[in-house]
Parts: sequence; C-alpha cells; structure tokens
Amino acid sequence: KRMNAPRSKTTFAAATLELSQPDDEERKARALAAATSELERLFRKEDFRRMQVLGQFNLGFIIAKLDRDLFIVDQHAADEKFNFEHLARSTVLNQQPLLQPLTLELSAEEEVTILMHMDVIRENGFLLEENPSAPPGRHFRLRAIPYSKNITFGVEDLKDLISTLGDNHGECSVISSYKTSQTNSVCPSRVRAMLASRACRSSVMIGDALRKHEMEKIVEHLADLESPWNCPHGRPTMRHLVDLTTLLTLHDDDDDDADADADADDAAAISLA
Ligand SMILES: [Zn+2]
Repeated sequence: KRMNAPRSKTTFAAATLELSQPDDEERKARALAAATSELERLFRKEDFRRMQVLGQFNLGFIIAKLDRDLFIVDQHAADEKFNFEHLARSTVLNQQPLLQPLTLELSAEEEVTILMHMDVIRENGFLLEENPSAPPGRHFRLRAIPYSKNITFGVEDLKDLISTLGDNHGECSVISSYKTSQTNSVCPSRVRAMLASRACRSSVMIGDALRKHEMEKIVEHLADLESPWNCPHGRPTMRHLVDLTTLLTLHDDDDDDADADADADDAAAISLA
C-alpha cells in the first residue's frame, strides 16, 4: 500500500469549532486563550490576503480557504475588530482644563499610587497638581480631564484608573494599549467601551447579506490588525474548520489500488489548487 506523503504543514488543535463552545466560563476563557495563541503561532497575518472566499453561510459567516485549510470567519466580529483598531488608532484624547481645580478626597494608598504612576495618569489625560502642605488625603487637585468628542471623563474614571494601577503595577499608555487591545489594559475602561460600541455600530451585522468582494475586504482587512483573532468584546473572529488533506487521507485508507489512488490524489490536488 502506498504511503501518504509526509505533511510539512501545521495542524490546528485549539482554534477549532469543537473547542469553541465549552459549557462553563472558566473553560471557555481557557479555550479562547489557547485558540488565540495557536492562531498567533500557526497563522501568518499576511495570509489573510491570500485567503480565497468561498461563500457566506446563514448571513453571518464567511467560509474561506487557505491552501488546504478551510476556515470560518464571523463577519461581524471580524469587521468590528477592524473598525475598533482603526478607531483606536485615530482617536485622540483631548485634555480639558477645569475652570475650578477640584481637590480630590483620596485614601493614603491612592495618593501613593498616584505618586508612583504620575506619568501614566498624565498620558490618560488627567492632570493633577500636588500640594505637599495639604492634609493627608487632600494632597492632589484635579486640574484637567480627558475628553473625546462624545464623552467626558470625571473623578470616577480617575479613581477607576488609580485602583487599576494600584492592583496591577501595569504600564499603560493611551495609544499602545488600545492598539494592542490587550485585555489587561489598564486604561480607563470607559474609553475602551466607548470605542468598542462605536466600532460595533459601524460594522456589518449578522444577518447582512454580503457580496463576494465585501467578504474579501473583511477577510483582507484582518491582515493589518494588531490582534485580529478576537473582537473587542473577546469573541473569536475565525476558527479552523477542516484540513482538506485529512479528507484525502481517509480516501487513501479506503482504496488499496495504488494507481487509482494516485489518480484520485491528482484529481483532488487539481480541484484544491
Ligand atoms: Zn458588536
């Protein structure tokens, strides 16, 4: 019996449909992380440009082929992530000075956190002024707050940021964290939430019929994203459906005639090309 040619390609084991619907939240989060890191390792982003769109399923999903692998792409999640990263890159947080500086009532821990992360707080658009001679808990005055077209931030957002900085000792800059859209971003959650909901509203929806070139555009767009694997709400954009060479292997096992087998392989190779 003829041996199958050794396969030099990679095999998807985590970013699959089987593992995308676990029953509890913790397993779901772990499966999602495993799938994301697998795609990061096995799928080159520039290959989104080489993908061949086969069609749309149930007005919500794009079926596409890359070499011998079939993938399913969530049209809304994919378009939403593209719009989100684009918005995040182009959104500028402006700073609005307060007419009347506001004395903040803070705990001792919060004041220490501010001193340690003054630069991060400033990068997020909050301008604080320190008054060392003021009584403890009243050392800082708020002089300016960030705003962006439709949203103005306030003391609650600053406290939110301080508590996140205190917990994580994380680094944060407005630009880089929105670009990479890491879930451990320590920027004010409202900025992210605002950008995500704007991106959502401007994206194609599940239920929209798409022409082939529209689907191709959605898939191609993923090539330029920092993190194309999940939408801003964390839902997956793409999963592996099947490695078509495994279908040929099944065929080989059923067929002991080497000549017919080779012919079948050739025919399959042509139809896959
Ligand atoms: Zn959405």
